[in-house]
Amino acid sequence: MEETKAPPAQLRGLPSVDRVLAHPALQLLQQHYQREMVVGLVRRHLDDVRTALRQEGGPVPTVVEVAQAVARRAAARWHPSPQKVINATGVIIHTNLGRAPLSDDAVEAIRQTAGGYTDLELDLEEGGRGSRQAHVEDLLCQLTGAEAALVVNNNASAVLLGLAALAAGKEVIVSRGEAVEIGGGFRIPDVLRQSGARLVEVGTTNRTYAADYEEAITEDTAALLRVHTSNFRISGFTHSPTTEELVAVGQRHRVPVLHDLGSGCLLDTTQFGLAYEPTSQDSVRAGVAAAFFSGDKLLGGPQAGIVVGQGEYIRRLARHPLARAVRIDKLSLVALSVTLIHYIKGESVQKVPVWRMVAATAAELRRTARQWAKQIGPRAGVAAGLSTIGGGSLPGETLPTWLVAIDTGETPGGAVALAARLRAQAPAIVARIEEERVMLDPRTVQPDEEVALLIGVREALAGSAAPGRQS
Ligand SMILES: *Cc1c(COP(=O)(O)O)cnc(C)c1O
Repeated sequence: MEETKAPPAQLRGLPSVDRVLAHPALQLLQQHYQREMVVGLVRRHLDDVRTALRQEGGPVPTVVEVAQAVARRAAARWHPSPQKVINATGVIIHTNLGRAPLSDDAVEAIRQTAGGYTDLELDLEEGGRGSRQAHVEDLLCQLTGAEAALVVNNNASAVLLGLAALAAGKEVIVSRGEAVEIGGGFRIPDVLRQSGARLVEVGTTNRTYAADYEEAITEDTAALLRVHTSNFRISGFTHSPTTEELVAVGQRHRVPVLHDLGSGCLLDTTQFGLAYEPTSQDSVRAGVAAAFFSGDKLLGGPQAGIVVGQGEYIRRLARHPLARAVRIDKLSLVALSVTLIHYIKGESVQKVPVWRMVAATAAELRRTARQWAKQIGPRAGVAAGLSTIGGGSLPGETLPTWLVAIDTGETPGGAVALAARLRAQAPAIVARIEEERVMLDPRTVQPDEEVALLIGVREALAGSAAPGRQS
């Protein structure tokens, strides 16, 4: 029935694949990319045009229009991606923007490791086979006080591996208030099911006691699982046992306690005026069998899942077949080792971008915001505001900051249009909108991004997006 809208005669007016390929813009494209790739793109584009004409009608595009559209499609697709973005949102661990940026040293280590061979699984002293875990296990044990450690692809896979290795076919007891969804489809009940373990919920949404766990323990219980409710906060009439209390229950019944910490940071967040975020050290000290956390949240390293705990349990995880399926790659591994060494040296607040951003003071940020506002021009002013941690860490916690506030006044499209023009810059600039103004938070912009940011903002304000992505 859609055929009736655009008669076949009109579709026949569409240029042929050969005529489009002969256009100079596509001749140029064929010098840079394989001919068959360009031909494929032309075919796909003509198919899309045909579908649109059938459904919506309208004028048939000329050869020039088709050639230019194909060239734009090639430019939009055939470049390295994901691409660099300047984060001016003030959300430090922004999952959509790739979470934690790495330290300069970690980036350099990745460059060196990526471009050559490494001792990834070679023992250089003995000349025999080594373990990729050896590169970070000692560092993690030293930093957290744990007996053993294991790193895998990400924290979700670490938790899945832990449950599969220790509890498949058996019961795992979880508080009703902690059977949560972390985001991106990671739901504790689903992960438990995937691992082959059975979920036993105890307590209530707001109050669960150590005795609730204890009463639910049977011969089939393989573990008590504690989950840090990292992306929301319940307050008021609430109770949950301490990790120590849970460990005491576990010890009485010889049942291991597993702790999904989420962010699992190594520093005390209260020194920055934030609420307390559970540290990996505290969890280890409390005596859990295994604590699980991410490499790219408050640790400030690469994507990774880190497990620290008691040797007998960590060894069972390492031996499980899933461990091979979720193993960490060499680039993340070297970045993780460099990040951990920043903590060992006591230089994490200076060198790890996440902590540098957390530690930046309102006075410093105000100075930067004022400088930027001056350079951006009369539309820009400064305003007090709030930065957040993000990444499902420290929900509701904020850090006082100073924002550059750009008034879009009568410009067409207002703040939404300006934000879109900022995203079209190269590199793209991601800002936030508050009260019809575009806000730039200096807290999450790195020093070497300042010049590009200011150029991009001026370009966007002038209404002429830099060609960037089209080049
Ligand atoms: C973020 C988070 C996860 C998932 O970690 P990834 O590293 O993203 O896989 C699991 N559990 C909790 C409690 C989290 O906060």
